[in-house]
Amino acid sequence: MDVSHILDELNEPQREAVTSDAPHALVLAGAGSGKTRVLIHRLAWLIQVQHESPLSVLAVTFTNKAAGEMRERAQQLLETSTRPLWIGTFHSIAHRLLRMHWREAGLPENFQILDADDQQRLLRRMIREEGYDENQWPARQAQWFINARKDEGQRPAAIETLDNPLTETWTQIYRLYQDYCDRAGLVDFAELLLRAHELWLHNDDLLAHYRQRLQHILVDEFQDTNTIQYAWVRLLAGDTGSVFVVGDDDQSIYGWRGARVENVRQFTRDFPHVQTVRLEQNYRSTGNILSAANALIANNEGRLGKNLWTAGSDGDPIRLYSAYNEQDEARFVVSQLEQWMSEGRRADEAAIVYRTSAQSRLFEEHLRRQGVPYRVYGGLRFFERAEVKDALAYLRLVLNPNDDAAFERVINTPARGIGQKTVATLRLQARESGLPLWQAARAGLEQGVLTGRARTTVQAFVELILAMRERLGDWTLGNQMQGVIDMSNLPSHYEKESREKMEARLENLSELVNAADSFVLPADDEEAGMTVLQSFLSRAALEAGETQGEDWEDCVQLMTLHSAKGLEFPLVFMAGLEDGLFPHQRSVQESGGRLEEERRLCYVGMTRAMENLYLSYAEVRRMFGSESYARPSRFLDEMPAEHLQEIRPRAGVARPFVRSTPVAARRSAVADPSQPYQHGERVRHQKFGEGTVVSFEGQGEHARVQVNFHEAGAKWLVLAYAKLERSG
Ligand code: ATP
Ligand code: MG
Repeated sequence: MDVSHILDELNEPQREAVTSDAPHALVLAGAGSGKTRVLIHRLAWLIQVQHESPLSVLAVTFTNKAAGEMRERAQQLLETSTRPLWIGTFHSIAHRLLRMHWREAGLPENFQILDADDQQRLLRRMIREEGYDENQWPARQAQWFINARKDEGQRPAAIETLDNPLTETWTQIYRLYQDYCDRAGLVDFAELLLRAHELWLHNDDLLAHYRQRLQHILVDEFQDTNTIQYAWVRLLAGDTGSVFVVGDDDQSIYGWRGARVENVRQFTRDFPHVQTVRLEQNYRSTGNILSAANALIANNEGRLGKNLWTAGSDGDPIRLYSAYNEQDEARFVVSQLEQWMSEGRRADEAAIVYRTSAQSRLFEEHLRRQGVPYRVYGGLRFFERAEVKDALAYLRLVLNPNDDAAFERVINTPARGIGQKTVATLRLQARESGLPLWQAARAGLEQGVLTGRARTTVQAFVELILAMRERLGDWTLGNQMQGVIDMSNLPSHYEKESREKMEARLENLSELVNAADSFVLPADDEEAGMTVLQSFLSRAALEAGETQGEDWEDCVQLMTLHSAKGLEFPLVFMAGLEDGLFPHQRSVQESGGRLEEERRLCYVGMTRAMENLYLSYAEVRRMFGSESYARPSRFLDEMPAEHLQEIRPRAGVARPFVRSTPVAARRSAVADPSQPYQHGERVRHQKFGEGTVVSFEGQGEHARVQVNFHEAGAKWLVLAYAKLERSG
């Protein structure tokens, strides 16, 4: 067996970690030292050299995007299919388990995922209905309370209220909410994790089965695991499993959401004979970037302590720009970007990162003005848009009419004359009889609870859903999607809006049909026994919380610091370095280590940069409708001046804004880099077979390609879903 290629391109400590024969291992190392790389090589090592079955490996990462990359890189190393491997986020793996073992988990077969937005909506309604004062008991806070308890593994009965009336009420709301979700077959994100944990905890046979099977557990970004995730890993490992985790305490940035960096230390106590490996060589960033980041993070206390160095050159100094206002900042960033692109570099090698998602808007405006393609991570994504969720709600009802969240969403969308009062009657019926709304509605019709106009309209709605179920049952997914849109007459709902808005919504609906049309049941969902419809709906819900961004597109990447974790870019702009914005006001006021978490966030941001890093702040910023003067971020003072070079604002602003070649002109002169496929290129689709690209439109998740398939004819496909392969 030729193992050299797995160990090639690894340094000594990396090799040591990859080939460790200790029962458990912890790789504790700073940013860019190759932790993720080690984890992937470990996976390949286990399978190819140790001849462990691919079925015995479970690899967990932080985002779906990271999971996709991990699978791809493992595939390259292994040169075989990675299909049997379980690679995913904690959420996606928990979801998969619950689908496979819904009965043991106490769930209905067609349980639905409740995304964050639906969860809040549901809570708001319940709080109102139960007669609580919404101002005193806001839904947002209830959501926070419930999710935090679930992340701690607590059911309402386990919460110690200590006679605190506040805690008692929140706990009561949690209880009502959970009863409701259980009746309706709804599972929120936190519930996925908690229930997957309970699934094993309460089913000895099942636990024994998975312990036997998943012998090797690998976890990336371990510093950001929360209590329930840690407990889940521990339970699965038992006394026999082998756990390999990689992480960096300096990059723990989800404390505010329940992540426990203590888990890193706890790990070496809870698991016997842990081999700890430290990596100290950084392969990502230039000397200047690394030294400044090291100096910054040295201001935190209680670190596990690491020393990062690079064999690379010092590179350029970090550029610091003090803009006179936020407009000037955006203009500066975009002009530097254009400069970079005019030197022949790609747009997608650059990222603009910021503390709060609202900051993206100005950059977007300036990028659009200059014709620079960009993509925002963390904005309102396709599956979060209202019309998309409306159409999906119909489909969810077709699958499971007891899905109350879906029922509520569309009972009067489009308007069919069912008033709030009628809906309230149905809710009351449902609550009193302990039935889902759908069944309450049917019972109400039979027993004559509903009369007059209410009766006719509800009857019509019930019949509509029944007709959909009957007619669409065995259609293809794409036709089902189109079918529910047509039969529900959903487009009419948006007619009252402005023309552009309505058109955008209709476009989104037709994209949704395209997405359904080209959706191919992923292998792991198929193995989990899901139908195409179940799989599509669950993926839509799971992905609503995360970007759909595809790697192929040549776009500047805009994202919050939180979503930049684990990624790397040759050019990084970190904007808005002002006290109050970054570090964020809350963290400055609050105690409890929040400021240190902000500093780690700054460290994460800086260490994303490989070659060039720009930092900027505005002297005046318009926020919440008024202008305010800000002090440059205290973090800037913590970076040694020798690594920074200030760019005088006047030079940056006064210089006339000329470009020799406008970006737009440059882009059309060469093969358009924003288009992943060229006209005439041959591609392959899993379902439609071979074809030729004939046309292309849109960007990001809107991107669609028209392919003329040899067998199936011409089709428009949503790229993000079509999974096209190049052929020939
Ligand atoms: P982060 O903490 O940001 O998640 P990381 O520790 O996971 O970073 P990686 O992303 O695995 O680091 O690696 C950083 C970069 O260094 C990658 O581009 C990787 O390919 C490269 N790299 C890591 N180890 C080596 C090596 N031994 N030789 C060459 N390049 C390496
Ligand atoms: Mg990593």
